[in-house]
Parts: sequence; structure tokens; C-alpha cells
Amino acid sequence: MKPLREVAKADSSDAISAGRAAWAKARRIVIKIGSALLVDSASGRIRATWLNSLADDVAELRQEGRQVVLVSSGAIALGRHIMGLPRGPLELEQSQAAAAVGQITLAHSYQEVFRARGLTTAQVLLTLGDTEERRRYLNARSTIDTLLAHGVIPVVNENDTVATSEIRYGDNDRLSARVASMISADCLVLLSDVDGLYTSPPSSDPNAKRLDVVREITPEIEAMAGDAGTELSRGGMKTKIEAGRIALAAGTDMVIASGKVLHPLKALRDGAPCTWFLASSDPVTARKRWIAGQLEPRGVVVIDAGAERALLAGKSLLPAGVTRVEGQFDRGDAVIIRSSSGYEIGRGLTAYARADAERIIGRHSSEIAAILGYEGRSELIHRDNMALTRK
Ligand code: GLU
Repeated sequence: MKPLREVAKADSSDAISAGRAAWAKARRIVIKIGSALLVDSASGRIRATWLNSLADDVAELRQEGRQVVLVSSGAIALGRHIMGLPRGPLELEQSQAAAAVGQITLAHSYQEVFRARGLTTAQVLLTLGDTEERRRYLNARSTIDTLLAHGVIPVVNENDTVATSEIRYGDNDRLSARVASMISADCLVLLSDVDGLYTSPPSSDPNAKRLDVVREITPEIEAMAGDAGTELSRGGMKTKIEAGRIALAAGTDMVIASGKVLHPLKALRDGAPCTWFLASSDPVTARKRWIAGQLEPRGVVVIDAGAERALLAGKSLLPAGVTRVEGQFDRGDAVIIRSSSGYEIGRGLTAYARADAERIIGRHSSEIAAILGYEGRSELIHRDNMALTRK
């Protein structure tokens, strides 16, 4: 048997190469930027040198053909300074007002630094419902997909101004994990003022050790998360672990890395200390499993032989191939896809509610707008939203 120390060493270098491999293969990356990195706490201004260094790194990722979504905090931190609000905790209404003021500066700063690098940004403000409720979730997902397909960099934040305390994330750690899972990202990077998950708080325990890799959120891992929220950013280690749980379930790898350095993404690539949360499956498999197994089907669509062949060949389900619908389903609900002989072919999320679906089945997709009076999607169930039982 190898002495313990050597085993630990071997594990650690395996873990580091697993993390590197995860980063190298990630095509769609979500990067969460904490307030403390972006906003100088004394002046309440954007830390321009840091932001420029981040933009250089993101531009490089884009050049490598990777898609990048930023989830940025900082609206409240910027806004409270502009409004001259006192230090210390804010009332909910005060932070909502500060977010309304600060979000403009935040979005503008991103627009400027990326424009200087020939890149277009988009502002996407989300509330809890947009990522939790499937009908709206499908919209947010396809909007972000479309932006990414056009090479745009979406800059996401919570819509703090309208989100009340009951429907609020309150922290961008979990919001970024929801976004990553919603768009099936390969990797989520949490940039903050800590460089990973420690066995105990490193500030108070000199024996605290940083973990290189986490593959599962066990009770031990949960116990390691103290609560380290600062005045400007809401998230501490607890919300990062929650983010890890969401990411792993979605098949998205996550990494907690320090953003305290300039060029934080280059540093990550070059092997800076960090903690990787490595998912056991990939986002596509995890999403299909969720559609096939986790959702209660609300209805049935019966399809003809031509559509069945198309589905088995990896195509989407068009209204033209559907002969009948059953059940009361809404847009975004899971439905069972059945062949005319009655066996289940798979399940999927429908882009139309029952009443509208009934009117367009058997018809060509180009007729949808004329029949329904609005421009809908050409597929009844998009192949990305479908899990087939047989392959
Ligand atoms: N959405 C908040 C803001 O932009 C920040 C939440 C967080 O720090 O996690 O100021």
C-alpha cells in the first residue's frame, strides 16, 4: 500500500488534470462575477483595469470559438454610491432602487469594454420565475441561444427592481447556476474573492485545506460551507455549494476560482488554485434524463409514421406530423409522444398549449402565423427538448 501522503498527492494531480480537461473541452461557459471584484468598495466605482483584463480573457475565449455568458453582480453596489445611500445593510426597497440606478452603469461598462474589442453585449435581466417556470424558461433559453448563435455576449443579472423578497434569488451564485443549467452550459465559473472551497474557513483556521475536486455534494461538503457574505455581495460559501448542486444535477462542471487577480480566466487556464465541481454526466444527457424521468407528463401527442421516422433520425417534431393531441397541457409542459399504434416513442416539452396545438396539427409550419394570429415556433417539440425512449 502507498503511504497516505502519496495517495493524496496522486489524487490531487488527477483532480487537477480532470479540472484542466473540463476547462479545455467547455464550449459554452457561464462566468459569474461578484460585486467585490467589479466595484471598488471605497469609491463605489467600477474597477476599470480589472474589467479590462477580464474582457481580454473573454475576447480570447470568443476567438477560440467558445460561447460566453456573463452573470454580473454590482448593480446595487454601484447604485447605492451614486444615490449617496449610507453604508451598512439596506432595506429591500433601497436595494431595489439602488439596483435600478446601478444597472445602467453596469450594463454601460460592459458595453464599452467589449465594444472596444469588437464584441456586442446584451443585457438580460431575470427573475426567479424565468428560470423556474417552464413556459418562461423556454423563452429565456431560446433568447440566450439566439444571442449566442449571433456571437453576442449576454450579460445577465437578477431583475432586482421588480423581484420582491419571495420571488428573489438574492444572490448571483444560484442565479448563475440556474442560467447555466437552463442553457445547458458545459462549465460555470464562479469568480469571487475566494479561490475555492476550504475544509474550514481559512481566515480563522490555519489548518484549513482547499479541495481540488468535488464530485458530489455530500453532508461533509455542506458542513464546510460557513457563511461568508460581505456587505456588497450576498453570496457566501453556502450559496456557492447550492450553485454546485444545481450545476452538477444539470451535467454542468463548476469551478470556484479567485477573481482577485488581473486576467482571472487566463490564470484559471494556467492552473491557478481553485476547486472544481465535476459533473458525472454531460448537460445534454442530464437534460434528457430530466425530461424523460423527472417531469409529470400533462398530455399526449400522437404522431404519424413519417414523423416517427424523422424523430428517430434526430429531427424535431413539426405540427404536420401530429394526428391527435390528448390531455390539458400548457406551453412548456412535458407530454408523451406516441406512435399511431400506441407505443411511447419519447417525451418532450411542448412549445404550444393544447388549444393552440389542436389548431395547428396536420398543418405546415408556414401556416402557423395565419392560423393562430401570432408568429409561433415552427416545431411543436424541438429536438433539444425531447428525450426518445428508443434510439
Ligand atoms: N444582483 C445584485 C446586484 O447586481 C447582486 C447579488 C449578488 O451579489 O449575488 O447588485
